[in-house]
Amino acid sequence: MESEAATVVAMRLAATFDAADTDPREELLQRLLTPVAKYWTCKRAPVHAAESLECLGGMGYVEESDMPRVFRQSPLNGVWEGSGNVICLDVLRAMQRSPESVMVFLDEVERAAGTDARLDAATARLRKELDDGDSIESRARGVVEQMALVMQGTLLVQHAPHEVADAFCATRLREGGPGVFGTLPPDPSGFRAIVDRHRPVPSA
Ligand SMILES: Cc1cc2nc3c(=O)[nH]c(=O)nc-3n(C[C@H](O)[C@H](O)[C@H](O)COP(=O)(O)OP(=O)(O)OC[C@H]3O[C@@H](n4cnc5c(N)ncnc54)[C@H](O)[C@@H]3O)c2cc1C
Repeated sequence: MESEAATVVAMRLAATFDAADTDPREELLQRLLTPVAKYWTCKRAPVHAAESLECLGGMGYVEESDMPRVFRQSPLNGVWEGSGNVICLDVLRAMQRSPESVMVFLDEVERAAGTDARLDAATARLRKELDDGDSIESRARGVVEQMALVMQGTLLVQHAPHEVADAFCATRLREGGPGVFGTLPPDPSGFRAIVDRHRPVPSA
């Protein structure tokens, strides 16, 4: 689910690169969404790698598996793609230089309005944060995280299977942030659908 959420934003972002030359709105979205997506993906990568390592128990920790290398390398994303603070300052710069980019971002989110009440509530909280210019630098990490999560939710409710979007909205969009992995509400049918979707299919 975490990887699907990151992928769907990467694909939407790739589409803005295709369209930016001829569509100024896509160019504005590209400018703002690029650092937003980079910030959140880089922040989630080490946590995701650690959880994946833990899923394999001791076999995930010892150097004989690939996981220690994946774990060790994962914080590098947040250094060479731009550190968290610096990417957040870049988001603020994009918003200040092109305030229209915020409107375009919110228009994109509006496409999914009314699909899921939890997404609508998260969007309302985000709008409030964006409307408040006070101490925006000190709040920047929180604001950028919310922008990333709301965009992920927006795209998942439109493009992912219901079970994936539902589980995402239940866990990632709750007030107070996403917290640790593995806190989906009890719903065995949803679990099964999500696991089946990502289970490797052995070739015949
Ligand atoms: C293995 C590796 C390969 C790399 N390859 C490339 C490459 O090919 N091309 C490339 O362009 N870069 C590359 N980089 C990234 C580049 O080398 C720097 O590491 C990167 O630009 C960050 O700068 P820095 O290391 O000086 O850290 P700093 O900028 O000193 O950051 C240190 C800390 O200070 C914080 N900070 C810095 N400025 C501010 C600010 N204004 N406000 C608040 N906090 C701030 C940061 O958030 C961070 O936590 C690579 C990095 C590594 C580790």
